[in-house]
Amino acid sequence: MYNIKCDTHTHTLFSRHAYSTIQENVKEASDMGLELLVSTDHFSDMLYPDHESTKHYQYLFTSPMTWPREWMGVTLLSGCEADIVGLDGSLFGQNITVDKSIVGDPFKVPTTLYDHTTKNMDYVIASVHGKSFLKDATPSQMTEMYIKALQQEKVFILGHIGRSGLPVDFRPIAEAAKSMNKLLEINEHSFSFDGGRNDEFSRNRCKQVLETCADIGCHISVATDAHISCLIGRFEETKKLLEEVHFPEELIASRDKHSFLNALKLSGIKDLT
Ligand SMILES: [Zn+2]
Ligand SMILES: [Zn+2]
Repeated sequence: MYNIKCDTHTHTLFSRHAYSTIQENVKEASDMGLELLVSTDHFSDMLYPDHESTKHYQYLFTSPMTWPREWMGVTLLSGCEADIVGLDGSLFGQNITVDKSIVGDPFKVPTTLYDHTTKNMDYVIASVHGKSFLKDATPSQMTEMYIKALQQEKVFILGHIGRSGLPVDFRPIAEAAKSMNKLLEINEHSFSFDGGRNDEFSRNRCKQVLETCADIGCHISVATDAHISCLIGRFEETKKLLEEVHFPEELIASRDKHSFLNALKLSGIKDLT
């Protein structure tokens, strides 16, 4: 039986369609016996109609300075789940210039909303949510898009690629992830929320991701993508799938804190070991 001690993709009420505070999530992680929790609220145009203001994203860029690293016996990391918004692998906020602080003081040097928001974060998860920009894209362009998103400096994990429903080829993506020491995610939320398709669709796609990763030796991250505290640390469906494919435990970077922090260090993104 797989024992997963980290939850590497979770949301607080700052994601607007999630319902728990960071304290409630940490408490749940502690009660569930997790060693490490990563809070990754959405960084996306699904949140606010106007994007230019740094004011909206305070919940993301102040958290690394505000939250304790250790809380109720759990190591707490702060990240975000940024939307992939272009076929070139660009992420939300990278084409938005910001020149004022939250109180309206001008920055000495203007920056992008993405850089300003993610500067002090531990890592970024890159995910596809809105798909209108993909309307005319070919499968190979979408495969390439994921690889380019993964090449972005702060991106450590590709979020729920099994659930996105995009007709991508997992093998080159997993090969790229392996070569960069980055991770593909298997996401428990994929089995309960699948965008209206039946359950089996996401399950089969996630299974293909696992088989591909096992075959080539690419590390994965298992996460709940919990949008409410009572789902933190519950990986039951994912565990069934891991067992079904006899997934090698040593390729699960999130199996414990030590392995996960080592993987993060190896990616070159952050050394918290
Ligand atoms: Zn969400
Ligand atoms: Zn998410």
